[in-house]
Amino acid sequence: MAVHTCDDLVLGSSPVSVLEAVALARRGRRVVVAEAEPTIGGVWRPVTVGDQVYADQAPHLIDARPGIYEFLEDELGVELVDVSRDAYVAFAKPIFGRRLFPYSEYWLHKMYNGNDREIFRALSDAGHEAETVSSRVYGMLAERGDPENRQSTIKYFKGGTQALVRRLNELLRSHGVDVLTNHRVSALVYDSASEQWTSETESASVVSRSVVMNTHAFPEAVTFDGETVSLERTERPAHSLFLTIENTPDYFFYAVFPESPLVYLAADVGYSSSGQSETTRVVSVTLNNMGVVKFGRPDAICRAVVEDLRGSGLISRSSNVASVDLLSLRRGSLAEPAISHVTQLPGLRCVSSGGGLDVTLMEMQARDAKLAA
Ligand SMILES: Cc1cc2nc3c(=O)[nH]c(=O)nc-3n(C[C@H](O)[C@H](O)[C@H](O)COP(=O)(O)OP(=O)(O)OC[C@H]3O[C@@H](n4cnc5c(N)ncnc54)[C@H](O)[C@@H]3O)c2cc1C
Repeated sequence: MAVHTCDDLVLGSSPVSVLEAVALARRGRRVVVAEAEPTIGGVWRPVTVGDQVYADQAPHLIDARPGIYEFLEDELGVELVDVSRDAYVAFAKPIFGRRLFPYSEYWLHKMYNGNDREIFRALSDAGHEAETVSSRVYGMLAERGDPENRQSTIKYFKGGTQALVRRLNELLRSHGVDVLTNHRVSALVYDSASEQWTSETESASVVSRSVVMNTHAFPEAVTFDGETVSLERTERPAHSLFLTIENTPDYFFYAVFPESPLVYLAADVGYSSSGQSETTRVVSVTLNNMGVVKFGRPDAICRAVVEDLRGSGLISRSSNVASVDLLSLRRGSLAEPAISHVTQLPGLRCVSSGGGLDVTLMEMQARDAKLAA
């Protein structure tokens, strides 16, 4: 069995974990990343759909928080493209006569779903001219600004998530970080005499001074000086539909469906890859769990999803569905008591990765700036 010795073992290889590993390596530490899957990337890892089409594995978007695109482009060196024109909020019931709103006005959608909903409905249902109503409401809301501090331009990786993952691989290599793929860490053992952590699998053992885990990359148990604690987790099902849709010439990047009982998010996952046919799209849909229970049968789910996509105008009315794949999995998250527990142990850290990548990156930047000061 191979034995690796390092300063820090980082569990998982999503951008969150990789950037953590690179930040440690930049401070001169010897770092090993352990990833359970054959390739790195976490939920940003691309998948092959149908016949050799490389596609993002789910609808993805990096929200326009201050400084995030600059960080990705200037610090990380990934190329981004402006997708503001093709990212939408799709309403089943048109408001102001419009079904699709630019995603850059997401703040408007948040307010529509919140306390201001009735104002929107009243104005919209009273049959006011769409443009008059929207300019009145926009004016009113613009004074309040985006409650979540988003910017108005939306950017995405040129070449999709595989371009991001390629760049993450380069960063790991150029910083001398060793990556062990197919290496699921099920247990971590601490020995206080040597002040070292050991993680073992069938193929390798890693001995380190510290371990970095996160909300979605953690072992089943931690043993501290002979005493074993199972780490409490919560699990949620996640259902995605991959639809190959023929005869739909329109393309779109990403859409969120606030009113649909079944469609949570949808994306044309071939959007940024070349070689896609002019009229065939691979659309990935993240399903609403409540909707899955309600609709029950896969064929009923598929019909309702296609109806929502057609109704929104994102795919053509005359399109046909050539193939459907339903992917269902359970995603585990480390429960709060377990996080509190492990972070009291020497050399064990848990990076927060619960929110979107944009929020996590902002937190990491703020922390690194504090460390540098
Ligand atoms: C389907 C989906 C789509 C998303 N889309 C977006 C989006 O568009 N924008 C956004 O900002 N956020 C998005 N998110 C949120 C996402 O959680 C974060 O962006 C980020 O990927 C979280 O990173 P993570 O490391 O916590 O989890 P993950 O990305 O799930 O990565 C965890 C990795 O750790 C590995 N791992 C787990 N346990 C072990 C172990 N014991 N040993 C070794 N390896 C292990 C897994 O194999 C996996 O590769 C999405 C989440 C999901 C589920």
